[in-house]
Amino acid sequence: MTKRVAVIGAGPSGLAALRAFQSAARKGAEIPEIVCFEKQSNWGGLWNYTWRTGVDENGEPVHCSMYRYLWTNGPKEGLEFADYPFEEHFGKQIASYPPRAVMFDYIEGRVNKAGIRPWIRFSSVIRWVEYDADADDFTITVHDMTKDHVYKERFDNVIVASGHFSSPNVPDYPGFDHYYGRIVHAHDFRDAREFAGQDVLVVGSSYSAEDIGSQCWKYGAKTVTSCYRSAPMGFDWPENWEEKPALVRVEGKTAFFKDGSSRHVDAIILCTGYKHYFPFLPDELRLKTKNRLATADLYKGVVYVHNPKMFYLGMQDQWFTFNMFDAQAWYVRDIILGRIAVPADKQVLMADVAEREAREEASDEVKYAIEYQGDYVKELIADTDYPSFNVDGAIEAFLEWKHHKKDDIMAFRNHSYKSVMTGTMAPAHHTPWKDALDDSMEAYLAN
Ligand SMILES: Cc1cc2nc3c(=O)[nH]c(=O)nc-3n(C[C@H](O)[C@H](O)[C@H](O)COP(=O)(O)OP(=O)(O)OC[C@H]3O[C@@H](n4cnc5c(N)ncnc54)[C@H](O)[C@@H]3O)c2cc1C
Repeated sequence: MTKRVAVIGAGPSGLAALRAFQSAARKGAEIPEIVCFEKQSNWGGLWNYTWRTGVDENGEPVHCSMYRYLWTNGPKEGLEFADYPFEEHFGKQIASYPPRAVMFDYIEGRVNKAGIRPWIRFSSVIRWVEYDADADDFTITVHDMTKDHVYKERFDNVIVASGHFSSPNVPDYPGFDHYYGRIVHAHDFRDAREFAGQDVLVVGSSYSAEDIGSQCWKYGAKTVTSCYRSAPMGFDWPENWEEKPALVRVEGKTAFFKDGSSRHVDAIILCTGYKHYFPFLPDELRLKTKNRLATADLYKGVVYVHNPKMFYLGMQDQWFTFNMFDAQAWYVRDIILGRIAVPADKQVLMADVAEREAREEASDEVKYAIEYQGDYVKELIADTDYPSFNVDGAIEAFLEWKHHKKDDIMAFRNHSYKSVMTGTMAPAHHTPWKDALDDSMEAYLAN
């Protein structure tokens, strides 16, 4: 009987899995039946924008954490697909920090070309996954929202690609329940124009805080205050942006900080991160990890050590994204196709995880972390036929990006980098980021 593989999620990671199998089939390999379950009505994962917050049209938690006017926060040269360069998709090289709609188009272009849409069951929410040790297979319970029908199917392998930047971590602070401005988590932030003319407090000091604060600044917030628990972001912020130590409490519309200072704030945006959250998995199959580069319990970052027939894609904290998901997907595909062997001894799998954790913990430096993840990508692609690419070149682009941010946080997106896939230099964008208010694909691609 043909093997069956379930892929949960049709975001960049799940689509990488489909593309990996399709590529093997195109080269003549016999592949299992692949069924991808996607709870949204379209593919693209986080890049599939919706205005909705809270629940979707089916009453399910909205997956999207993206917002209007989002441009990539790292150069596209670091994430480019090795088998589908930007130039192939757009017919020309484009500037280095595309807005979300441009990225969605690019993601979609590759999978349209591969013809894998029929493998996906849309509006299909995975409710539960069970492993049957006797049959050595998995039973998946699916809710087909279109027919409002719940059914079960059996699979030999499960690939979880449901993402981990969707279930918000929402802290409470004294005074929040009496605050009479707007409190919103980054997950539900959709449009910076809502905060024009306001004094905005951004709680947090990672990418969301940096980018959402920048969006608010760009679209006319009166002031931005950001506050940190451990360390300030430390950029040379515009004069109406101030960094404060941790938020302690709010009273009325006044926020109080750990250093005893306070200030008036009209709105509070919680950029307090996300949780790895898998409500469809029982204890024995559920990944429990921090958001880090060396994910807990994943051999080679993808094989679940407690049940090696189950795989996870894209569960790491991410410098590299799309091409790392591809490297992982090709690797998992080759395990499933029997081309790569996973050691039978669980101790060996756990030792691999421990070694990755120790190596990650050896340094706190950003450069080290980027190189660490670059090495991981190299390690995986060395064992498969994923098109080899200049990973060191991508690392260089990331390091340059870091410098550009230090130089001018509101202008780093005006820089260009060289594609490590085609060797072409990206053109400068026609408008500086801070003045480019229209995030449509037409506006971005206009000459
Ligand atoms: C605000 C924001 C900005 C970002 N900006 C960038 C950027 O500029 N550059 C970059 O490279 N990366 C960026 N990222 C990182 C992002 O994680 C990756 O680009 C990418 O989207 C991860 O792909 P994924 O497939 O692993 O997960 P996701 O994109 O989250 O996709 C997971 C999919 O699984 C589906 N799913 C979840 N649960 C179920 C279920 N129970 N049943 C069925 N389907 C389910 C979801 O609907 C979704 O389609 C950003 C992330 C966020 C939150």
